[in-house]
Amino acid sequence: MNVRSQGKAPEAPSSSLGASRGGESLTITSVDKTFGGKREVTALKEVSLAVAPGEFLSIIGPSGCGKSTLLQIVAGLMMPSHGKVFLGANDVTGESAHMVYLFQQYSKSLLPWMTVEENVMFAFNHRLHLRKKAARDRCSEYLEMVGLDDFGKYYPWQLSGGMQQRVAIARALSSEPKVLLMDEPFSSVDALTRMELHALVQELWERKRFTALLVTHDVDEAIFLADRVAVLTHRPATISEIVGVDLSRPRRPVEVHENPRFLEMRHHLLNHLLRKPEQSDEPPV
Ligand code: ADP
Ligand code: MG
Repeated sequence: MNVRSQGKAPEAPSSSLGASRGGESLTITSVDKTFGGKREVTALKEVSLAVAPGEFLSIIGPSGCGKSTLLQIVAGLMMPSHGKVFLGANDVTGESAHMVYLFQQYSKSLLPWMTVEENVMFAFNHRLHLRKKAARDRCSEYLEMVGLDDFGKYYPWQLSGGMQQRVAIARALSSEPKVLLMDEPFSSVDALTRMELHALVQELWERKRFTALLVTHDVDEAIFLADRVAVLTHRPATISEIVGVDLSRPRRPVEVHENPRFLEMRHHLLNHLLRKPEQSDEPPV
C-alpha cells in the first residue's frame, strides 16, 4: 500500500498534480493550538503539511480531534498558538485573502433574503466590483457548472438541501480562490445527494484546479475525492500518516466503491481511525 509517515518538515509532492499550472503550495508548519479558559485544551500539536498547487488533500480524524480548528487556522479565521501557514513564500497566517471556506451547514453560507443569483454575485462582487454584465456572466457560468442555471431567481429556502449546497459551492468557487477549504460540507445531505455532490466537486476541481483541503470523518468521501489522505490522531491532533490515493480519474462513485484498491485503503484507514488513542503511535502498514 502506498502509505507513508509524515515527517516534521513536509514537502509538497512533486507529482504532476496541478503543479504544471504554476500556482503556490500551501504549507502548514509546526502548528499548535491551545484554547485557554478554565481548563486549557490543546487541540493541535506540531501539525505540518504541504499541499501542492492544484492538489486535493483530505484530512480525516476522530470527532473532536481538531479538524475544524486546523481548517480555521489555514483559513485565517483563527490564529495558531504556534506555527505558521504559507502560500508559496508568503506568510498568510491569520490572512484569508486567497482562500474560501465552505461550511458544513449550507444555511451558514447562504443569505436567506437574497436570491440564488444575488448570493453568488455577493460572494465575488464585494471584492471585485465587476460591471453588471460581467458579474451576471460570471454568476451564470458558475450556476451552469453546478446545474442550477434555471434557479437564479429562487430563494435558498425554495431549494432542496442538495441544491442549496450546490449554490454554496458555486458561490465559493465564483470568487476563483486559489484554495478551497471544506469542513464536512456534505454531512447534512442524504447519502445519494452526497455522492452526486462528490462527483460534482471532482468535476469542478478538474476543470478549475484550485487547491482543495477537505476535512471529513467520512473515510469513503476522503478517498473518493483526494490525491492524498492525511490522518489526524486523537486530540491533541497531530498527523499520524498520509496515504496516497492511486485511483485513476475521473472517478465514478459506483465503480470506485467496488474497486479493490479503494476497499484496501478504506480498510486500512478505518482500522487506523478505530484504534484506541494509546495505540495511535503504531507505525503505518
Ligand atoms: P473536530 O472538528 O475534529 O471535531 P474541533 O476542531 O472542533 O474538532 O475541536 C477540537 C477541540 O478543541 C475540541 O476539544 C473542542 O472542544 C476544542 N475547541 C474548539 N474550538 C474551541 C474554542 N473556540 N474554545 C475552546 N475550545 C475549543
Ligand atoms: Mg469539526
